[in-house]
Amino acid sequence: MKDLFDRLIAETLRLGADRASVIDAAQIETDRSFREMCLSNACGMVGKCWMCPPDVGAIDELMAEIRRYDHALIYQRIGQLEDSFDVEGMEDAKMAHRAISFALRPLFGELDITRTLHLGAGGCGVCKPCAKVKGEPCVHPELAMASLEAYGVNVSRMAQAAGMKYINGANTVTYFGAVLFSL
Ligand code: SF4
Repeated sequence: MKDLFDRLIAETLRLGADRASVIDAAQIETDRSFREMCLSNACGMVGKCWMCPPDVGAIDELMAEIRRYDHALIYQRIGQLEDSFDVEGMEDAKMAHRAISFALRPLFGELDITRTLHLGAGGCGVCKPCAKVKGEPCVHPELAMASLEAYGVNVSRMAQAAGMKYINGANTVTYFGAVLFSL
C-alpha cells in the first residue's frame, strides 16, 4: 500500500500541488457548522449549483458518506498575493488549484481505484454557469465536484492531520482538496 500512496503523492505534486499526503479517512473531522459557513453564501453560489447547498444534499447524509471511505489523499496549493486585497490573485490561485483537481481525476481510474469521493475548494466550476441556474439536470455528473465545506469537513483539522499548515503566511491564500478512497 505504501508504494501506491507514494505514487498518489508524487503524481499530485507533479500536477502542481505544493503539498500532498495520504491519511486515514477516519482522521477527517466533520461538523454541521462548516456547512453553515458555506450557507453564509460568501461566494454567492448557494442555490446556483447542483454541487452547492442546498442542492448538494442533506448535511448528515454527506457527513456519513465520508465515513464510508478508508483513506484520503489531501493536497494543498498555496497562492501568492500582492496584498490581502488582491482579489484577482485569489481568483488566479483558486483556478490553479482547480486545475490540479481536474487533472487528478483520471489518476485514480488509471490505478484501478474506483471507489472515490473527490472534494475541492469552492463550487463545482465545471460548467459556467451551472445547469442549475436554468433548472436543468447536471451536464457532467461524472465530473461534478462539491467542496469540503459543503460536506461539513473541518479543513483546518484535516490540514493538521495531513501535516500541513492551514494558513501559510502573509499575502498567501491556501486551497485544499481531498480525494477519499477505498481499495
Ligand atoms: S458539472 Fe456542470 S452542471 Fe454539473 S454540478 Fe458541475 S457545474 Fe453544475
